Amino acid sequence: MKLPLPEYVWFDGKYVPTAEAQVPITTHAIHYGTSVFEGIRAYWNGENLHVFRLPEHVARFRKSGQYYDMELRFTDQEVSDAITGTCKKNDVRAACYIRPFYFVGEYGISLYVKPEAPTRVAVITFLLGDMFDKGGITASMSSWRKFSARATPTQAKMGGNYLNSIIATQEAKKKGVDEGIMLDYDGRVSEAPGENVFIVSGGKLHTPTAESSPLEGITRNTVIEVAKEAGIETVERDIAKEELFSADEIFLTGTAAEIIPVISLESQKIGGGKPGGVTARMMKEYDDIVMDRNPRYSHWLTAVY
Ligand code: PMP
Repeated sequence: MKLPLPEYVWFDGKYVPTAEAQVPITTHAIHYGTSVFEGIRAYWNGENLHVFRLPEHVARFRKSGQYYDMELRFTDQEVSDAITGTCKKNDVRAACYIRPFYFVGEYGISLYVKPEAPTRVAVITFLLGDMFDKGGITASMSSWRKFSARATPTQAKMGGNYLNSIIATQEAKKKGVDEGIMLDYDGRVSEAPGENVFIVSGGKLHTPTAESSPLEGITRNTVIEVAKEAGIETVERDIAKEELFSADEIFLTGTAAEIIPVISLESQKIGGGKPGGVTARMMKEYDDIVMDRNPRYSHWLTAVY
């Protein structure tokens, strides 16, 4: 998906015209994927632009690099200000996706990334409405396994790790479906390339634990909290592949994707081929929260203007 570029980006502490934010070909991250990124959304409700769960994203941003001794040389406050500031600088007044990232800069070819390795930081904003059809998507079981924490840390949003998501997505698109669902090394349901998986069964939500190697998404956590408040229990447990096919409903969660019903898996209809009631309820709750129509959760919103 090619998105229109913003006029300005934030790069190493300054706002610069997007075309001027460039890096040399000797940048370490281009060679080895030594970059850390976040995906954040901001929502325009006609009166203000609100960044959703900004402190949680900034905390994960810093933590991702810590697994690799990659240092984010700006404080949480500076990073948060850069995020809201880039929205302001581009006068964003529409649904927007925000991509902060930091990466190892010029550092030769060494695989030994020391804490003093130079890191560069940037924030880009993209105007982005719905990523998927909210009426429901098709999915297939990926033949690629989700990488395990036995290989690299699964909770680190590192550029290099996303080759796993890219190859699973390429396979899904070649099969003609919207998304692929990956199993973990032990054959349990893990996640989709950029989203967590939930099933609805017996009136409860069920989602894999971190043991099955998914990223523990912020939207996943949002759904669990909101469901609890609505009296719907979430069971975090191992989920077998066949449970997907017998589920009453399946939905995916992620910052970019938001909450998306899966209405067919391997060409088999899920929930009669229509979004189910629990999924629809979660989608409505999510929409109300991000649009600041639910004061109970207004603490999850950071106003830009
Ligand atoms: N899994 C993967 C692999 C992801 O990249 C994402 C998107 N960050 C998610 C799950 C969902 O996480 P979140 O809800 O925090 O966006």
